[in-house]
Amino acid sequence: MFSRRLLRLTPYTAGEQPQDRRYIKLNTNENPYPPSPAIEEFLRTVDIGRLRLYPDPLALELRTIIAERYGVQADEVFVANGSDELLSFIFYAFFDGENGDLLFPEYTYSFYPVYCDFYGIPYQTIPLLPDFSVDVKAFSAVAHSSGIVFPNPNAPTGIAVPAASIHDLLDSYRSQVVAIDEAYVDFGTESALKFHGEHENLIIVRTLSKSMSLAGIRLGFSIQSPELTSSLFMVKDSFNSYPVDFLAQKIASLAFRDPGYYDSITRKIVQTREIFTASLKDLGWEVLPSKANFVFARRPGLEGEAVYERLKEKGILVRHFRKGKIKDFVRITIGTDDEMAVLLDAAKGL
Ligand code: PMP
Repeated sequence: MFSRRLLRLTPYTAGEQPQDRRYIKLNTNENPYPPSPAIEEFLRTVDIGRLRLYPDPLALELRTIIAERYGVQADEVFVANGSDELLSFIFYAFFDGENGDLLFPEYTYSFYPVYCDFYGIPYQTIPLLPDFSVDVKAFSAVAHSSGIVFPNPNAPTGIAVPAASIHDLLDSYRSQVVAIDEAYVDFGTESALKFHGEHENLIIVRTLSKSMSLAGIRLGFSIQSPELTSSLFMVKDSFNSYPVDFLAQKIASLAFRDPGYYDSITRKIVQTREIFTASLKDLGWEVLPSKANFVFARRPGLEGEAVYERLKEKGILVRHFRKGKIKDFVRITIGTDDEMAVLLDAAKGL
């Protein structure tokens, strides 16, 4: 009954989503604040009859709003069912091993190797520098490669690289696609978007799941040249014509119309992150310098797995990765001030 392809798959393991709601949930980098109030109003008054019809397969209204927001053209914007789906389209469209391996950091978003295995893309990982930051220079030092992908800031470390290093990389790497996964960029990282236009091989990938508090609608978007955008449409239309449903298109459009609200909750999360980081350091933890809505931290003398388990016993979920150099760390999403206070209290008793 099972294809050989299926038997070879190693799926991504998502963070736990317990349905019993007993936990303080700091394990999947969701936003602790609600989405724009305009969305609540829309959902109360939405024309249910509209759900009979398929959504716009081009998502043109939404793509136009995103284009205006970022000062680009609608034919340079692509949207998908979460940035995970969008990344999978990018992997399919642009990375194939013809010119060498796909390159990404050794410790990074763990969906990348899953897509490589899914599509049969050979890849090579680039070790992080001793301070756990992404070694951007090392990408262009590899003689042949079929493309580059990395998050900025990186996940799960939260460490950002300066836009200037990405600019240097783009100057020396022109023939294959460079995809910068900016899932967490709004929490204090300089975007590489300003190099769009100057570099035809650049793709900026974003999500509404983090800073826009809309993980539940599954909406990711990317900005790239019209030619690369058409290629992404070719993949989408070979797979599913309507990956972004009517409600998701409307809700996302409303979110983009409320930048003031999002600026304020983002500022609040950044402030909580800085205060929480200082408090955790005061307790003797090592905390990597984060520009994301999470911190990557370790308690000297205690294994990451034990930290994860003990916090879970106390009703707090964080994320732990059982991998080489990062196995002592846990990734803690920044929640509300109250949630972080509960965690700090629990951390004192570990
Ligand atoms: N990229 C990175 C670096 C992430 O951490 C995540 C969230 N797991 C995603 C992409 C995917 O986000 P989404 O599919 O919710 O847009």
